[in-house]
Amino acid sequence: MQRKRIFLSPPHMGGTELDYVHQAFDDNYIAPIGPQLAEFERRFAELTGFSHAVGLASGTAALHLGLRCFGADEGDVVVASSLTFIGSVTPALFRKAEPVFIDSDAESWNMDPVLLAEALEALNAEGRRVAAVVPTDIYGQSCDLDRILDVCRPYDIPVLCDSAEAVGTRYKGRHAGCGARAATYSFNGNKIITTSGGGMFCTDDEKLAEKVRWLSQQARDPGAHYEHSTYGYNYRLSNVLAGIGIGQLEVLQERVERRRAIFDFYVRELGGLPGVSFMPEAPWNTATRWLSVILFDKASGTDPETVRLALEEHNIESRPVWKPMHMQPLFEGVRMFGGAVSEDLFRRGLCLPSGTAMGDDDLALVAETVRGCMA
Ligand SMILES: *Cc1c(COP(=O)(O)O)cnc(C)c1O
Repeated sequence: MQRKRIFLSPPHMGGTELDYVHQAFDDNYIAPIGPQLAEFERRFAELTGFSHAVGLASGTAALHLGLRCFGADEGDVVVASSLTFIGSVTPALFRKAEPVFIDSDAESWNMDPVLLAEALEALNAEGRRVAAVVPTDIYGQSCDLDRILDVCRPYDIPVLCDSAEAVGTRYKGRHAGCGARAATYSFNGNKIITTSGGGMFCTDDEKLAEKVRWLSQQARDPGAHYEHSTYGYNYRLSNVLAGIGIGQLEVLQERVERRRAIFDFYVRELGGLPGVSFMPEAPWNTATRWLSVILFDKASGTDPETVRLALEEHNIESRPVWKPMHMQPLFEGVRMFGGAVSEDLFRRGLCLPSGTAMGDDDLALVAETVRGCMA
């Protein structure tokens, strides 16, 4: 019998999730909204330090609602990280706004604040309205949010931090995303904690949180009948799934520690080899190492695709670094500030299996297989 596949980042239940789901069943709160959702939101707000958290169907939905509330519309610009997952930037397209991309800095792989300043100056000079800046916190590492906020402040541009990959990340002693006008998080199946599918919109602005909640439930105006003065979406997180989320939050810290230990293991086993390096940890944060990313340069004698195929031979899943948005056919011709850093990371980077349920023997097999490519 073949050994079970080692996935890149599969769900890892803690044990109490089903108890909360059972509670929802016992009280017949299978309906979308109920006490599990309220409790999940309360605990998530507590974790992140935001005063309001709204549970949503996905991280993508959370970003969409954020951009809608910030008035992103046709003719406006949304400035985003190029090195990110597509869900970070499709919401700008949903709003018919024009995405403009910013390269990563080498220190954190996140939005480069210097290039952001250049972009905002140029766009301002052209009289363009920037509806929002949406920096990603990549692979569990926080962007330098304070510097990004400083750059945006003179223009009064709201920062909508895409912290989908950074649940559990600490930035300068606070949670990743905290300090932005709003931040969004994802509980998709591959993230550090999961509700099967889900997301969260967080903000300190009560009116904004209320509007997001209202829009996520079809924007129904007060009254017994269904009255609508604008359109909304069906974007609320299910109460049943929120039950999974409560249980997952109880093991988040353990998951962070295990992800970091997995990263440290790879560094120990492979970091000394010629031409091999790993994703840096920027001094301003404690990253979760949601995914462990390894880089190969010429001296390694191999490349990410060769290693990926070798791992696949052993039924082990790995994945290239996100292909930058400015290199995507979908965004051909879109404006880009910089580009060399994210292009290089895409060419040289591979995400290694990072699932917290992996045993040490699995980890050893991954390391051995990678090493075998470099003989
Ligand atoms: C996962 C992810 C999203 C989207 O989250 P979903 O819950 O899958 O919609 C957005 N941005 C980034 C950077 C992500 O990794």
